[in-house]
Amino acid sequence: MQRSGIYIHIPFCRARCSYCDFATGAYESGLAERYVRALADEITSNTFMEDALAVDTIYFGGGTPSLLAPSQVARILEAVKKRFRVEKDAEVTMEMNPGTVTLESLRAFRAQDINRASFGAQTFDDLELKRLGRTHTAEDVRRTFSLLREAGFANISFDLIAGLPGQTLQNWSRNLDEALKLRPEHLSFYILEVHAGTPLAEQIRRGAQPQPDDDVAADMYRLMLERAASSGYEHYEISNLCLRGYESRHNTKYWTGEAVYGFGCSAHSYDGRRTRWSNERDAARYTELMENGRNAIVETIELDERTARAESIFLGLRLMRGINLEEYRARFGADLRAEYADDLTRLNEAGLIELDKHLLKLTTSGALLSNEVFSTFV
Ligand code: SF4
Repeated sequence: MQRSGIYIHIPFCRARCSYCDFATGAYESGLAERYVRALADEITSNTFMEDALAVDTIYFGGGTPSLLAPSQVARILEAVKKRFRVEKDAEVTMEMNPGTVTLESLRAFRAQDINRASFGAQTFDDLELKRLGRTHTAEDVRRTFSLLREAGFANISFDLIAGLPGQTLQNWSRNLDEALKLRPEHLSFYILEVHAGTPLAEQIRRGAQPQPDDDVAADMYRLMLERAASSGYEHYEISNLCLRGYESRHNTKYWTGEAVYGFGCSAHSYDGRRTRWSNERDAARYTELMENGRNAIVETIELDERTARAESIFLGLRLMRGINLEEYRARFGADLRAEYADDLTRLNEAGLIELDKHLLKLTTSGALLSNEVFSTFV
């Protein structure tokens, strides 16, 4: 039986980082309390299912969910358990930022069955943290990591960002040493994208910060893969590595096209078949909608056959194990090799994909240029 995932968006942060374009704003206790009530209402009153669905992953993302009080998180989880059948061994993840938790709050989160921490370390260099507008130091990262262990978290994921303005390969290499020394079970790493409209984009435009160098970022990506592999990590998704058995079960649902239901402002949902929908982006507006007994959904998309196929290809290709061509045929009644014959030959000759009778997957160069590969199928 297929099990669904639940995503819960918490749109509050201590301060806004200079590169961030997520739906998040400054933490304000009054709005946070109203928001938690609105979330619990949305979860318990949703009408997209008749019977309680089985759920085996819950993910608190943001924003900085660890800014909520443990009692607020408990109320949200209570609402989830009221509306869904949560499996005993469900993976329950909370995104946390260094310096936003104490041993006491971590113990309380752990006691509420939160068994995985996704930890926004980003870099171990204080100057780089400052440039990003992060509110913590490298020492906070180390301290919070040891608090997580002390509180009983045996499944910790680290977020790292490469390709920062002015970051050298040497700096990055030191970051990797520090991260690997702590031996988290999972590592997510991103190459910085500079989004228009963010303070960082403006600083770069004014020349206050150097333009990130794409070639250096590509070298950082390769170095990360080499170092992590020699430390026993498996590269299972373009931006994710883990020790054996510690893949993110929740995020894997997005890449394999399973159902994930999102709650809270800007949350996206997918029913695992053909329907996607998303919520109002603004936290205050979302809260008002829920308080007035209204629906927070602002967009619903019914995927046509062609879009559903394209999505399953570019999401499936994110996984380094690739796409099983027989499974694709069974699902869509189509032969992917024949459908995209010319494109696949071109991508293969460019060294971006590997293709045989059974499997289509990205090479390391293909992972680095994944947007270029994906655009072929969209
Ligand atoms: S902590 Fe994360 S979500 Fe919050 S502002 Fe920084 S990057 Fe954005």
